[in-house]
Amino acid sequence: MREAPADNIFGKILKGEIPSTEVYSDNHVYCFLDLYPQNPGHTLVIPRNYSANVVEADESDVFTCLRVVRKLIPAVKAATGAAGVSVLANMGRDAGQMVEYLHFHIIPRHPGDSISMYELGEQQTPEQLAEMAARIRAEL
Ligand code: 5GP
Repeated sequence: MREAPADNIFGKILKGEIPSTEVYSDNHVYCFLDLYPQNPGHTLVIPRNYSANVVEADESDVFTCLRVVRKLIPAVKAATGAAGVSVLANMGRDAGQMVEYLHFHIIPRHPGDSISMYELGEQQTPEQLAEMAARIRAEL
């Protein structure tokens, strides 16, 4: 299992050095709520095995993440009332990748909303995050 560089924020989240709000986890992936969601319920899926992006990752980590993304989408939709979601993996700063750790975004979408890969959403309180995570977990 490759570990992220010590200063990597998602690596720190995996080690529990920075708090996060878990939605789902298993031996291969960790899924948690985005602290600055584009819309409430914005969820991130990362492999436990470190890589910087979708191309550098082992294929099996990409497939494993996507399998979990598929599992989480209906739960995220049900928990948020969103009829659609955007599934994204940014690669490179020019694409808005802020964290150099492979991650897939699941972003609930609503008619007429707009999302930005260059700007953070509104920071959530621990209470807001806990409530949303409980709603998503209840749908799994
Ligand atoms: P990227 O821009 O790299 O594709 O996505 C990184 C995501 O991580 C952003 O959506 C951002 O809001 C989120 N993020 C940044 N710092 C933290 C943090 O400390 N905790 C959590 N849960 N999410 C974070």
